[in-house]
Amino acid sequence: MIKLRESRMSEIPVYQNYINGEFQPHSASYIEVTNPANGELLSRVPNADTSEVEAAITAAKKAQKAWAAKPAIERAQYLHKIADKLRQNAEHLAAVITKEQGKVLSLATVEVNFTADYLDYMAGWARRIEGEIITSDRPGENIFMFRKPLGVVAGILPWNFPFFLIARKMAPALITGNTIVIKPSEETPNNCFEFTRLLDEVDLPAGVFNVVCGTGYGVGQALTSNSQIDMISFTGSVATGSAIMAAAAPNVTKLNLELGGKAPAIVLEDADLDLAVNAIKASRVINTGQVCNCAERIYVHTAVADKFIEKLSSAMAATRYGDPMKQSDLEMGPLINQASLDKVISMVSKAKSEGAQVITGGKVADIGPGFHYEPTVLAGCHSDMEIMQKEIFGPVLPVQVVASLEEAVELANASEYGLTSSVYTRDLRQAMRAIDLLDYGETYINRENFEAMQGFHAGTRKSGIGGADGKHGLYEYTRTHVAYVQN
Ligand code: NDP
Repeated sequence: MIKLRESRMSEIPVYQNYINGEFQPHSASYIEVTNPANGELLSRVPNADTSEVEAAITAAKKAQKAWAAKPAIERAQYLHKIADKLRQNAEHLAAVITKEQGKVLSLATVEVNFTADYLDYMAGWARRIEGEIITSDRPGENIFMFRKPLGVVAGILPWNFPFFLIARKMAPALITGNTIVIKPSEETPNNCFEFTRLLDEVDLPAGVFNVVCGTGYGVGQALTSNSQIDMISFTGSVATGSAIMAAAAPNVTKLNLELGGKAPAIVLEDADLDLAVNAIKASRVINTGQVCNCAERIYVHTAVADKFIEKLSSAMAATRYGDPMKQSDLEMGPLINQASLDKVISMVSKAKSEGAQVITGGKVADIGPGFHYEPTVLAGCHSDMEIMQKEIFGPVLPVQVVASLEEAVELANASEYGLTSSVYTRDLRQAMRAIDLLDYGETYINRENFEAMQGFHAGTRKSGIGGADGKHGLYEYTRTHVAYVQN
């Protein structure tokens, strides 16, 4: 059988959907993918229609029973082989990610290697997936609880960590015996197709992994409203998460939603200020502030506020940023698109009109083409400003001064989001008190925001439903089956 992988249209790669183990010819329209640092046209990708979505779901459905029947340790071997391929091609993959997404090359390389490690980590669960034996009320009865796959998973990806998110959805799905249909973001599909090219080389059984590319309202809607989908695993905005819930409702499809955050960073009077500044800066300039779990608002104790703001502003002002394919030593690249840049401009402008003072940054960066915004610190912020409530997703740190841990926690909890939070203090009792009081899925003490693959990345309120990573993330991709066996 001929494998159609990539054809050429005036030197620009044209990618094809991957359905039932084949790159399939696509005759409908294409989407153009561009580099956010300079507007360069990078590729054309399919804008799939409903029939292509249905073909992918049918292929995944057909493959699922045989895939689940394989011993988990055999399924694990495929994940290990894909991980090896990723490591061997890390340099190429990192460049693909950087060109379409805009993150600096060093971070893209971390993303590729972390993705490979994640596949290995999830493969390592093959011999550890466990059910339970439950004590019965009846003599001579055993109650067994089995863990079984759900069936076909739809994985809908965002653009901020597009490569890692493939593995975060696919690895737990496949190791537990599910098959998957992936829809990459139309902003960043190239890395997903390059991942798939490598996956194709390990001869995974046809239909186990499928990629259908297109828009959210087209492919996304067709996937999430399809009755043959058994679970939707989505990462992205609250608005899209709500739309997916509505699409899933008629079929009562299981949902796993990671919908972002407004992470508070609390800096107490006894904090190591240099550590706090370095960690908060790192967690805001990484990926140009476009990360769901990184510091989005700061509450600093009044006793150290002036000193902290001065140090933070110097650190942010010193950030090296620009076109990541032109300079290798950068800390930050452009924002993903014009809409994101417009959102940051509008939020900072509104904050200024509400009384915030720009200590550093505060405008579009004058460095040529691309969606670049200056690293920014805003002082004099207060809790009823939009910038202290809504997700910015850009390199802007609004700071509010507080009188106590209790005040900081109260403000931190008064948010529609509840994903991550961080606290800087040298006093272990204050740290433990903060952990008790914070209504969040994750809290980082004296360190930058970045979760471990063996943890559990989950939030409360509008930050989502369910979570990812570790044992608990793995079991999200299973259902239980209880059997009562009377002797
Ligand atoms: P979206 O939530 O719109 O997009 C994420 C994914 O969902 C994309 O693949 C998108 O498709 C798809 N999608 C969009 N609409 C639907 C739908 N009705 N049904 C199914 N799938 C759909 O995020 P944006 O890219 O528009 O980013 C907007 C904001 O979302 C950001 O500024 C940020 O605040 C937040 N966000 C949070 C992320 C996180 O890590 N939690 C990640 C990304 C964004 P496509 O875009 O291809 O049309």
